[in-house]
Amino acid sequence: KSPAKKTATAPDGGKAFRFDVGDSKESMKTSILNHLRYTLARHEENATQDEWWTATCYAVRDRLLDRFMKTQAVHHKQKVRRAYYLSLEYLMGRLLINNLHNAGLFEQTRDALTELGQDFNEVADEEADMGLGNGGLGRLAACFLDSLATLDLPAVGYGIHYEFGLFRQKFRDGYQVELPDNWMDKGCPWEVMRPNFAQEVKLYGRVEHQMDDKGVFKPKWVDTKTVEGVPFDISIVGYGGETVNFLRLWGARSSDEFDLDTFNQGGYTEAVHEKAFSETITKVLYPNDSTESGKELRLVQQYFFVSCSLRDIIRRFEANHSDWSEFADYNALQLNDTHPAIAIPELMRLLIDEYALEWDAAWEITRGVCNYTNHTLLPEALEKWSVPLFEKVLPRHLEIIYEINSRFLQGEVEAKWPGDDAKKSELSIIEEGNPKMVRMAYLSVVGSTKVNGVAALHTELLKKNLFATFHELYPNKLINMTNGITPRRWLLACNPGLSELITKEVGDGWPKHLDELQAISKLADNAAFQKKFMDIKRANKQAFADFVLEDSGTEISPDAIFDVQIKRLHEYKRQHLNLLHILTLYRRLLNDPDYEMNPRVFIFGAKAAPGYALAKNIIRAINKVAEKVNNDSRINGKIKIVFPQNYRITMAEKMIPAADLSEQISTAGKEASGTGNMKLALNGALTIGTLDGANVEIGEEVGDENIFIFGNTVEQVEAIKSKGYNPYDYYNSNWELKAVIDWLRSDYFTPGEHDAFAPLCSSLLEGGDPFLCLADYADYVRVQEDVDKAFSDKKRWAKMAIMNTARVGKFSSDRTIGQYAEQIWHLKPVQVEA
Ligand code: PLP
Repeated sequence: KSPAKKTATAPDGGKAFRFDVGDSKESMKTSILNHLRYTLARHEENATQDEWWTATCYAVRDRLLDRFMKTQAVHHKQKVRRAYYLSLEYLMGRLLINNLHNAGLFEQTRDALTELGQDFNEVADEEADMGLGNGGLGRLAACFLDSLATLDLPAVGYGIHYEFGLFRQKFRDGYQVELPDNWMDKGCPWEVMRPNFAQEVKLYGRVEHQMDDKGVFKPKWVDTKTVEGVPFDISIVGYGGETVNFLRLWGARSSDEFDLDTFNQGGYTEAVHEKAFSETITKVLYPNDSTESGKELRLVQQYFFVSCSLRDIIRRFEANHSDWSEFADYNALQLNDTHPAIAIPELMRLLIDEYALEWDAAWEITRGVCNYTNHTLLPEALEKWSVPLFEKVLPRHLEIIYEINSRFLQGEVEAKWPGDDAKKSELSIIEEGNPKMVRMAYLSVVGSTKVNGVAALHTELLKKNLFATFHELYPNKLINMTNGITPRRWLLACNPGLSELITKEVGDGWPKHLDELQAISKLADNAAFQKKFMDIKRANKQAFADFVLEDSGTEISPDAIFDVQIKRLHEYKRQHLNLLHILTLYRRLLNDPDYEMNPRVFIFGAKAAPGYALAKNIIRAINKVAEKVNNDSRINGKIKIVFPQNYRITMAEKMIPAADLSEQISTAGKEASGTGNMKLALNGALTIGTLDGANVEIGEEVGDENIFIFGNTVEQVEAIKSKGYNPYDYYNSNWELKAVIDWLRSDYFTPGEHDAFAPLCSSLLEGGDPFLCLADYADYVRVQEDVDKAFSDKKRWAKMAIMNTARVGKFSSDRTIGQYAEQIWHLKPVQVEA
């Protein structure tokens, strides 16, 4: 642990008043010192830096909790309608700096710490990322929470309190190695554990149908295992406002401390084992992005958090209401992908089995409150659970799903397509086969009021492909909600230089009204403004270069093009296409030392799912090529490749402000939206991208002249595939492409080690190149040459970069959440007075 820099004395000589929660610098000082002493039992003289961090977080939390309690009191008193966001993932990152900005406490806390002899940035650097998510989907949930509070919308986020978040990544000899993410090592001062709001969850067992006293058979779920869910609450403070919502994360613990019989018979360890099983449920986040795992524990996790959340929602409803017919008037649920789809049968079960409602009434309520967001068209990501597994873990829910399905097929589908059995089997929630499978996406569509895609193109493809027949049946159900990002974290906090410049030009309203950035477009040609804008970019690049030097010893020049691809490692995202381009330039330079190009630094950040062998092979290939290229004196430093370990939110916050070029090069039709693309454009990076996901809308906003589009479109991809795509046609007809693939196949980058990249190379050739890297290669290389030319013209590049920042206001998550509130949740803002 690093010792604190200097000692300090209490501002009032030690007579601090414990309950001063004012917003002044002096109040902050007092609070920090109080927490150091009374929460952490430490003297300021020898407190370590991480203890200063903890004490500061507690001081900030005090202020948030005051506003939280006020907000909740107002919501309760006004009996407001609320939105509930159900998500298995929240990629929150660090909270201190964002909380300070949002709560209006940034300057005074920074100055308080400085006056207490601490280095503010170093103290803030003590915080571990809260990495309870994989990538885009989890980060979207975090941005949405920020916008919900900022827009004063009454909302609660529900999720899982994982003991270990997404794994820590290390590279050894270029290989990815996974280590546990002990994010709570230093404690989590932001959360409040609330055992009083614990919930019990049942699992396993079997269903008995017992006759009640009226002679009616009633289902009874018996012989179940019970687990307790304990909530951990994290305050979510809106920017510049008084609203503080909360994120409630459920941790599992054994409901009975020990099985006393076993214990008394001397079976101490067996009794503890039973307890350990319960606590396994929330141990670890599944590290798959865009693939489903099919594992029993994953289904248990999903049910566990959904059941706890629904019981909590019902408890809150019952505090104010007794009439179930009002339930849908006060509650809207959003399912973030199908991960919480079990909410549909669980709410049915609660209403029917525990609250004695009739099926029709329960169904009207359930379908009236649930809404589902689809995040992908990739077949390997669509969740399906085998019927036998479902029956083992959730036997009563399986019965309910069968009943939902039967009523849906015999009722709605039969009415629309009478006698059409093909339609019935096509739309069935149960997929026939051995074993039968429960299609969670279909369950979600049938059980929801609204279903949304996450970008215009994605929603169109849902209507055309995955949900085409559902769209015929329910023409008003499918709608589009293009994703967004919070400008508080992704500009205000992560890029203070650019934020200050923008505020000087357009005032300080933009963090809440991102469209106001439009005003800087009139300065795009102004030489003085261009200089200021690009000086800031250069300073950010220098800061990142300093980090890289310290992190890996690699020297990079801030005058080079910083060409950035940061996202999960996945074939469809095509980091390997980027690599083919790098090899192409490297080869051109080796063949002709005078080859004209601007120096480039290729920057990667990516984790691969631990079981995804090909993705890991791509990581090793990038690392091994980097080793060679970075140490090759023949190319004069014209190409550098940096791939820092352990890409995460905190790393993204350093890379995004430093980026010149944003690589968004997925195969058209595969990326639902992307949000990294929005963050990079907002910070003045130009996009090189395919017409995929939200790239299409970014292009519409910034204009064709300010983006580099290449590659086959969705229609062209379909046409190529239906003709029978053969990557060898491209390989054999493009000598440069052939040369770089052959080069990668040789042991040039791994001397003496043969076939190191055989999985990668054979996937591109013998494997049929499923994501069409070869088909897009030539156009990609051509457009990269346009990028190089544009960069040589400093004025042109500056203008393009400014136009990107100016014109991407649409991608504020405030706009997205405003649309959800209006079109899906019918939710109104509730003001909380200061
Ligand atoms: N991982 C992190 C840490 C992010 O911040 C983001 C970004 O938005 C993503 C993953 C998703 O990136 P992309 O939208 O490029 O897939």
